[in-house]
Amino acid sequence: MNIIVCIKQVPDTNEAKIDPVRGTLIREGLPSIINPDDRNALEEALRIKDEMEGVKVTAISMGPPQAEIALVEALAMGADEAILLTDRALAGSDTLATSTALSAVIRYIGDFDLIFCGRQAIDGETAHVGPQIAEHLNIPQITCVEELKIEGRRVIAKRALEDGYFIVEAEMPLLLTAAKELNQPRYPSIKGIFEGFKGDRIKIVSPNDVNCDVTTVGLEGSPTRVVETFPPPIKSRDLEMLEGSPAEQARQLLQRLREEKIV
Ligand SMILES: Cc1cc2nc3c(=O)[nH]c(=O)nc-3n(C[C@H](O)[C@H](O)[C@H](O)COP(=O)(O)OP(=O)(O)OC[C@H]3O[C@@H](n4cnc5c(N)ncnc54)[C@H](O)[C@@H]3O)c2cc1C
Repeated sequence: MNIIVCIKQVPDTNEAKIDPVRGTLIREGLPSIINPDDRNALEEALRIKDEMEGVKVTAISMGPPQAEIALVEALAMGADEAILLTDRALAGSDTLATSTALSAVIRYIGDFDLIFCGRQAIDGETAHVGPQIAEHLNIPQITCVEELKIEGRRVIAKRALEDGYFIVEAEMPLLLTAAKELNQPRYPSIKGIFEGFKGDRIKIVSPNDVNCDVTTVGLEGSPTRVVETFPPPIKSRDLEMLEGSPAEQARQLLQRLREEKIV
């Protein structure tokens, strides 16, 4: 069985600050990490590999040359192969262009049974790319997967909803997006880290190599136009201090809540 896992390198937004004037993320000095949901996606692929014979896991990414380090980490966790699609022509890609480019890499790999993506990336947060890849490849998809069982070519998944869940079945080939509840990602092993850094384990490809038309990616292939970005305004509230003893303050508070019909 061939499993492909899409890995996005993202800035660690836990450390992020927003430029108050431009409303954009200040990226300078931010550490880059594997997108957290993608770790769950990779872990699930590796769990399947641990439990079944003949499973190959290939990690793929589209990004700048520095994204290679995310793939080194994927190899160190246990992926068998890794491919990085990188080229200046890809800069400015929106989600449609990103999914077009990743689909080209997947077609280039050719043989696949399962594709895993994370549910969403912590920087862009659209959750578009996984479903769009499935549409490009014309295969079924199950998003927000919290539990997964494989029976032959059949996949049975628990799919999270806001107020419950679905149990969904589908046949391979299939795309799944992983939620963080799916598993606990493993740490890279020391041996894996040494192996991951070995020279030629990551294949670097350009759009040309994977037969991706450059007019369908980058800014040219991106129909999205960002009109404005801004941090949500903080609503100023009227503040009133209650005076008197604690008992008097409690009485006044209760009276005000009754007047506002809150109690
Ligand atoms: C007009 C415009 C220009 C942009 N220009 C740039 C730019 O120059 N550089 C830039 O970095 N971003 C750019 N972006 C942001 C970029 O489009 C998104 O980060 C990207 O499309 C992924 O969307 P997302 O972050 O919402 O991922 P989601 O859809 O939330 O991601 C879901 C899953 O898809 C997979 N995935 C997503 N992206 C990748 C990837 N690159 N490689 C492998 N797997 C992936 C991962 O498994 C991820 O968990 C631009 C966006 C717009 C609208």
